[in-house]
Amino acid sequence: MAHVDTIVLGAGIVGTSIAVHLAKRGVSVALVDRGGAGEGTSYGNTGIIEGNTIFPAAFPSSFSALLRVALKRAPEANYHLTFLPKVAPWLLAFRAASQPSRLIETAQIIRPLMARAVAEHEALSAEAGAEKYLRHTGWLKLYRSDQSFKAQARELDLAARFGIANVPLDGDAARALEPSLKPVFRHAVHWTGAVSVSNPLALTRAYAARFAGLGGLAFTGDARTLHRADGHWRVDTAAGPLDAGDVVVALGPWTPDLIGPLGIKLPLAVKRGYHWHFRPQGNAGLSRPILDADNGYCLAPMEQGIRLTTGAEFAARDAPPTPVQFDRVLPKARELFALGEAVETNPWMGSRPCFADSRPVISRAPNQRGLWLAYGHGHWGLSLGPATGRLLAEMMTGATPFCDPAPYAAERFLH
Ligand SMILES: Cc1cc2nc3c(=O)[nH]c(=O)nc-3n(C[C@H](O)[C@H](O)[C@H](O)COP(=O)(O)OP(=O)(O)OC[C@H]3O[C@@H](n4cnc5c(N)ncnc54)[C@H](O)[C@@H]3O)c2cc1C
Repeated sequence: MAHVDTIVLGAGIVGTSIAVHLAKRGVSVALVDRGGAGEGTSYGNTGIIEGNTIFPAAFPSSFSALLRVALKRAPEANYHLTFLPKVAPWLLAFRAASQPSRLIETAQIIRPLMARAVAEHEALSAEAGAEKYLRHTGWLKLYRSDQSFKAQARELDLAARFGIANVPLDGDAARALEPSLKPVFRHAVHWTGAVSVSNPLALTRAYAARFAGLGGLAFTGDARTLHRADGHWRVDTAAGPLDAGDVVVALGPWTPDLIGPLGIKLPLAVKRGYHWHFRPQGNAGLSRPILDADNGYCLAPMEQGIRLTTGAEFAARDAPPTPVQFDRVLPKARELFALGEAVETNPWMGSRPCFADSRPVISRAPNQRGLWLAYGHGHWGLSLGPATGRLLAEMMTGATPFCDPAPYAAERFLH
């Protein structure tokens, strides 16, 4: 029977970063996943370490925008009709959290964590020899109309208040940065402090290798075997049972599969998202990720090709993929950039684990001694993985947390 201080369940960017931070603090840790590190949601994101993002993704603010989504004409969103009754309470909470004053409140609440996103990745990637995956070129948001550019004025105001660097550009200046972009947009904002990743899978794997270098143990196993035995937590792995006094659940969108049966019901939904790699035509290229703000997709240069990522799809996590958003966004993307043929036959699909208030849960689990939760990072999990790792490791080892963890407590849903 193997025994460690702490078992971390889930080797995505969040669980792996927690495991590294605990191991660095002298805790003996086992990291358990049913697959390899970084192969879940953390595999397929846009690769933006969004330490400078201010507002969370929001519910459509106008009737016309909502109608476009309802009629399935919106490039940025899709839904399965049969799933809507199930997700309706979450959508109502999301709509409430998307009121302008609530968005500002969320931006302020999340800032201390967000403000560490880039620095914590830089520190971890330096330790892990993974700096080669980080690009310090910022990211670029493009606006095709004056109207859409004006609509984000509030974000620039708040950025000024928070001291977050950005450079508004006209189309020509943006194309001086990214000469392969075609002149179909009028404005851009270059968020200069953001960092992007050329291979998110390789980055998580490098952090997992750093964990192993610190003496951390990795196991293959099904987290759902977790139970109490002999006064400890026990999980079954391919190498036999594993015991620990503490367990961290970092299973991303699969977390409810484990904690639900333990009686912990927190209102998580998933926003499914897709990516597809394309070869650039000729010598076209990008130096940083870009967002086509009017059309709700991103293009990100990756080692595998240009990764086109889609917005949110509201559907059951395990329902078959319905990548219809590509039909809507591909013509727009081809207007903007010379995308060649697809690298893979089919797109990849993942599920962003999202709470309606756009904050993760990073806290003790309610009513379960020795159980900790770190999930629900939504659109920002890649960004916040290492900052979450540090925060939770500080909380678990009795150190002073670098920021107030209260806004991320599971208890916020239990009142
Ligand atoms: C299209 C798209 C674009 C995105 N772009 C960005 C971006 O640019 N920047 C950003 O910050 N974030 C982005 N995100 C969000 C980000 O990818 C996620 O928030 C993040 O990957 C979540 O990490 P995680 O470690 O919580 O979950 P995961 O990476 O899903 O890790 C959970 C792990 O749990 C394991 N697991 C599940 N069930 C079991 C079980 N029963 N037993 C054992 N193991 C199990 C899985 O194998 C997996 O490895 C994007 C997401 C999508 C879908």
